[in-house]
Amino acid sequence: MTIQKYFTDQAYLPSVIKGFRERETQIELSQFIYDNLESFNPALAEAPTGSGKTLSYLIPVMEMGRRTIISTKTKQLMSQILNKDIKTVASIFGRDINVAALKGRRNYFCHYRYYKLIYSNQSYFPDVVEWFEYVFDNEIIEIPQGVFGYDVWERITADGHQCMGSKCEFQSVCSFYRAKDNANNAEIVITNHHLTAGDMTMKTESEFAGILEFADNVIFDEAHSLVDIYPLFAGTDVNLRWYSNLVKENRDILSPKEFATATAMYTMMLENFNEAREQYHDHEEEICKFVDFVNLIFSDKDAEDAEDALKKLNDNYKKLTGDVEGVRVCDAGGGTINAKFIPLTAGDNFREGIKKLCASPLFISATLSTMGNFNYFLQELGFEEDEVATHRAKPVFNYRESGYLLVTEGKESFDVYERLAHDIDGGILVICNSIRRMNDIAEYLSDLNIRPVFKQTEIDITDEDLPENGIFIGCAVFREGVDFAHRNLRCVIIDKLPFEYIGDLFYKEKTEKIKREGKDPFKDYGLPRAVIFFKQAIGRLLRHEDDKGLWAVLDDRILTKYYGRYFRDTLKGVNRTGNINEAIRFVSTETKKVDL
Ligand code: SF4
Repeated sequence: MTIQKYFTDQAYLPSVIKGFRERETQIELSQFIYDNLESFNPALAEAPTGSGKTLSYLIPVMEMGRRTIISTKTKQLMSQILNKDIKTVASIFGRDINVAALKGRRNYFCHYRYYKLIYSNQSYFPDVVEWFEYVFDNEIIEIPQGVFGYDVWERITADGHQCMGSKCEFQSVCSFYRAKDNANNAEIVITNHHLTAGDMTMKTESEFAGILEFADNVIFDEAHSLVDIYPLFAGTDVNLRWYSNLVKENRDILSPKEFATATAMYTMMLENFNEAREQYHDHEEEICKFVDFVNLIFSDKDAEDAEDALKKLNDNYKKLTGDVEGVRVCDAGGGTINAKFIPLTAGDNFREGIKKLCASPLFISATLSTMGNFNYFLQELGFEEDEVATHRAKPVFNYRESGYLLVTEGKESFDVYERLAHDIDGGILVICNSIRRMNDIAEYLSDLNIRPVFKQTEIDITDEDLPENGIFIGCAVFREGVDFAHRNLRCVIIDKLPFEYIGDLFYKEKTEKIKREGKDPFKDYGLPRAVIFFKQAIGRLLRHEDDKGLWAVLDDRILTKYYGRYFRDTLKGVNRTGNINEAIRFVSTETKKVDL
């Protein structure tokens, strides 16, 4: 069937969205999605910013009325779909939709832990007790964002290893279980990639495990991020702080000596870590000693919840020591040590997991292709390109009219920063490759005192009080997951081409493996990933058809190296200059154009 009418007929989208513009690219995209979902064909669509991708898949989903899971990477997209887009499609189809959201466990209130760790010490937590009395009657209690500190949040929520499941006396009123039941009875479930990936990997381990009921279709929006998220779940991630917390939370059943020794061991271990990624094997001995000691002190105690939690933590911990090809590392920081096993290839696991979750998946994002094809993305998820129907939606914005590219050859980058900070009228976004570089640039620009400077670690970009002429400086968080629409962004500065740090332990092992397979680690891995990261950064600038702005790339390898053309291709047709005056003039007015 054709679904064009929903985009063209006055009875549908044109009547419910003010200023709706009929676009061929959106209709083609939506038809592609309908055809492939309908025939249960795995499919992939690259849909640039402004193509209206959420409505393009929600309309086919509504038309078919099948059980569908929509998985996103960011909370912002999840809430946009729930609070806006679903309402739009419900109104044009003229019916209610049974839709449910399911977030990670740590978003929901845990009665068991509340009564054990807060209510029993209520004089220390009067505000939490007061809040609980206020929300007590809610069918599902979610933890409000930014209200409680980390210590309270840990006490009133339960991770998988802490949840007692069917042994819990509160399971019938449990918020997470209620949210899960709602999701499993819903026609459309909105969830996130972390939960979906965790569910898929659980299903690969046991046919009875998992959270989400089978769906006809799963739509992975912001699908580009799956290649990095999924391997984390296909492997294991043991936060040693959970062992330490188990000790703290059960202090009353431990002897003072047991408690003091376990606490001291954890503190000493923390001191032995740098706040950077290190080899697990370099710390294996002390980690094993600590884990063994925690097991020993609980071995003669009668505490079912602690025993259960310990068993689940130990099961995960054992996965670290297997012989599956992968990287075993520790990431430490902020009082935690995460011991991780990340497999070098998670594609086979993904294929198996997806079969257990749905009849067919759709992958959609603005940044899936690289170097003219989808090979990199599909191979990482275990697919061959000819197994998946693909579609690349035409660009919506006229990059040639709306944007300009400045590449500064041979200029000191801090001089360029100063000039742009001084003369760009509107917000500026700076994307860096490292936290250290972000701090250096932020310090330099703050000292100039030209306009307010904000680092990604310091602000919530949705804060409406942020000034429109701010300079926002960040790394991957700003490059990929943050929407700067309505921030009057006029310039995106890319400090360096976004190649990853080749000294990273995962990167090193992964590229070694690619070499062993007879492929080229740079061309088959490092370069495609950098081009995707570059596209993500570029995509921050123009969010609406009337936007206009400047991309400044302060790395002349984009012109001088053979691979520079793959980055330039993402801005095909855009006018380029090396003259900073000309670039600044463009942002204010139209100017003479030079072909790329
Ligand atoms: S079932 Fe699990 S999450 Fe729910 S209240 Fe009990 S322990 Fe907490």
